[in-house]
Amino acid sequence: MPFTSLGLSPSLQKVLDIAHYKKPYPIQKEAIPAILNREDVLGIAKTGSGKTASYVLPILMNLQGNVVTKNRHVNVLVLVPTRELAIQVGEVFQLFGNQLPQRIKSLAVFGGVSINPQMIAMQNVHILIATPGRLIELIENNAVHLDTIETLVLDEADKMLNLGFREEVDKILSFLPKKRQNLLFSATLNEDVNKVEQVLLHNPLVIKIASENENIDLIDQSAYFVKEENKGPLLRYLINNDNLKQVLVFTSSSYKADNVANKLRKNGIDASAIHGKKSQGSRKETLRKFKSGELNVLVATDLLARGIDIAFLPCVINYELPRSPKDYIHRIGRTGRAENPGNAISFITPEDKHHFKIIQKKMGKRVTMIDSKNVDF
Ligand code: AMP
Repeated sequence: MPFTSLGLSPSLQKVLDIAHYKKPYPIQKEAIPAILNREDVLGIAKTGSGKTASYVLPILMNLQGNVVTKNRHVNVLVLVPTRELAIQVGEVFQLFGNQLPQRIKSLAVFGGVSINPQMIAMQNVHILIATPGRLIELIENNAVHLDTIETLVLDEADKMLNLGFREEVDKILSFLPKKRQNLLFSATLNEDVNKVEQVLLHNPLVIKIASENENIDLIDQSAYFVKEENKGPLLRYLINNDNLKQVLVFTSSSYKADNVANKLRKNGIDASAIHGKKSQGSRKETLRKFKSGELNVLVATDLLARGIDIAFLPCVINYELPRSPKDYIHRIGRTGRAENPGNAISFITPEDKHHFKIIQKKMGKRVTMIDSKNVDF
């Protein structure tokens, strides 16, 4: 799905292409159309979910052709808890804002540095990104007025309230016009955030993005310690003995994927491999069969498996471990769903032992290890 189908302009799509934003992240899919529609949004999402672009892009679009530049009056205010986040969000606004037909000026202001250059830079700013304390100083110095604000964003609201900014945030809110769009983003929904949400948001669209790491608790993970030459028999044993259905088996190369699928078939198990050397038509047909449940086992590499658009898989087997812990989490994450938790099994050779320890450490969870010597296959 391209960004343009969410309502963003072709000129923004061009910048997104350059920035390698290939398709919208889940939070962007939901937030962008709602923000374009001028709705209030409550986004529960952590850094890394793509939350910044989920509000930056539609805010820029909404300003296009609509900005009235009035000196020292801003259209959009983004409140953030830290100087680092102010700078980071400012950069995202500049990256996308600089490419638009109508130039939109954004500025990040924060404490810990001299106020004078910031007061001078406040000329003709449309979007102000600020930490609360410094913003109040600027208001008190008549360097900025907030009575023309159309959209307010509270980013990392939980952190802002944790850091004791509550009074300052309340003070800032009192300077804003009553009629405006409110967007609140927070990693968690605690009592403090809840209170602010109650006074701030009007019938908001609520978006909750669970990180892949959160889903991990829902997955039944196990690992078999096994010698390379015993992987094939162990795989067949598990599929037959546990009567596994719709199993996605991961290998690290196309060659290996073919090899594993062939051996399974020779032993009477319905399996196919997909990889880059197969024709588009045959890949499509294999996927169709796997999705519909006609094909029991699909063997694939990470690259090809990304295109497998199945929301929930009952079982994933790592015939070979991926190199990065992130890929491991991504692979097994496909089985973690609250209603119906899935099963993730990994084959660990003596050479993999150390690497698997690192994966478990990164994931923050220990996986039960079963010695295949004790399994009767
Ligand atoms: P954030 O959660 O806003 O801190 O974003 C996390 C990272 O994801 C940033 O480095 C963004 O540049 C990047 N990012 C955000 N949206 C996308 C997307 N749709 N495609 C690729 N990268 C993205």
